[in-house]
Amino acid sequence: MSPIAITPPQEGETVTDLTHAGIEEALLKNAPSQLKSASLTNSITATPPPEPETKLQHTVETPLAELDASKIQCKYTESPRPVPAVGSAEMASQKVCTDHMVQAKWTVEQGWEAPTLQPYGPISLAPTASCLHYATECFEGMKLYRGHDGKLRLFRPDLNCKRMLMSTNRIALPAFPPKELLKLIVKLCATDGKKWLPKDRPGQFLYIRPTMIASDPALGVERPKEALLFVILCCFAPMGDMSGGIKLLASQDDMCRAWPGGFGYAKVGANYGPSLVAQGEARKRGFHQILWLFGDDCTITEAGASNFFVVWRTKEGKLQLVTADLNERIVLDGVTRRSILELARSRLDSSASSLPSSDLEPLEIVERKFNVFEIEEAAREGRLVEAFAAGTAWFVAPISGIHFRGKDIEVPMVKGDAGAYASTFRSWLKGIMWGSDGMEGHEWGQVIDEE
Ligand SMILES: *Cc1c(COP(=O)(O)O)cnc(C)c1O
Repeated sequence: MSPIAITPPQEGETVTDLTHAGIEEALLKNAPSQLKSASLTNSITATPPPEPETKLQHTVETPLAELDASKIQCKYTESPRPVPAVGSAEMASQKVCTDHMVQAKWTVEQGWEAPTLQPYGPISLAPTASCLHYATECFEGMKLYRGHDGKLRLFRPDLNCKRMLMSTNRIALPAFPPKELLKLIVKLCATDGKKWLPKDRPGQFLYIRPTMIASDPALGVERPKEALLFVILCCFAPMGDMSGGIKLLASQDDMCRAWPGGFGYAKVGANYGPSLVAQGEARKRGFHQILWLFGDDCTITEAGASNFFVVWRTKEGKLQLVTADLNERIVLDGVTRRSILELARSRLDSSASSLPSSDLEPLEIVERKFNVFEIEEAAREGRLVEAFAAGTAWFVAPISGIHFRGKDIEVPMVKGDAGAYASTFRSWLKGIMWGSDGMEGHEWGQVIDEE
């Protein structure tokens, strides 16, 4: 046992609930204005709806300063850097960020300080900082798209900001109004977008990484008393050609990514570091990603850091789009996953009374627990239609094969470079993200005014 004191619960301390009530409790302290706006209803967390507000009224203490984007202080860089050329090694390195970053500090005594927009650069932390020892860190992953119509867009960024609040709550980091985080992200994109994602690069993107860390300079294992929120924009190479599909290696029986009662549903750093052993092994053996299975029945959860979808025909002949449900909280509630399900329900659902015309056969949309044996059986019986992974990083990536317990399950890719459904979802989403194919004005695309 280390000499570090594990602080016992204090008298009168309430036990934090991980569900919506827990987020409300955290908001009450750090962002009480959020409770009135009810903007968390329909939040991305798979939690029950908020309890009636009346319960909270008599417990209000003096609120701490909230995160407030309107207080932002801007200090622009005096040494702007060159933008890496398309196709350069620098661009592919994922080490180059834009000229600026956004930062906001929080303390348990004062709440949020005024956020700053400042030159991009290293941050300073004490070696005792909580995040360096106890994984008190969470993040988001989004993209800023340079449209084919010349405009800059974010894709459903409100969902990422709400998910970030859910993640911070899971690891005892401070609450904030998601809308204020979004305003800070927009400010950074507006500042650096024009130079770093020039108009002559339509179809390209910058990767946005909002992050929160506990920065307390104290080794005690306890709830953070200081935190730092920052947002950076990182250069990424344009998305690689996915034709040929990705090959997945099913996780070994002695390893899983997430478990019931854990934190697989939150985008916390602690989920990713420990997955890199398996990922490295997969790469070494010629696979792109791990297909994360869970439990003795080999339940399918996710593919790498993407959600997993399969299209198959049931034994009765029904065509289905299937993905893991969120009930056990071992799967991340992806914005791409959610968007594909919503698009499928509005355009392809076989139970709908009328559908927009499409070349594709309508199908049943199913969120349920399913396993790799079902895929194996469908493949053997010729019922497997296609499979794909979906997430911001890899977008909609067709899957060509799954290696499971020494055997290869071949996944068809009818259209040559992708299954028909994967390529359709891809082109619908592309239209919204990059403003093309008549999707320029779609409500999921938030246009950014450049400075
Ligand atoms: C980020 C992430 C996803 C994809 O989520 P999107 O919001 O679609 O980018 C899926 N699974 C895991 C484990 C992730 O970390």
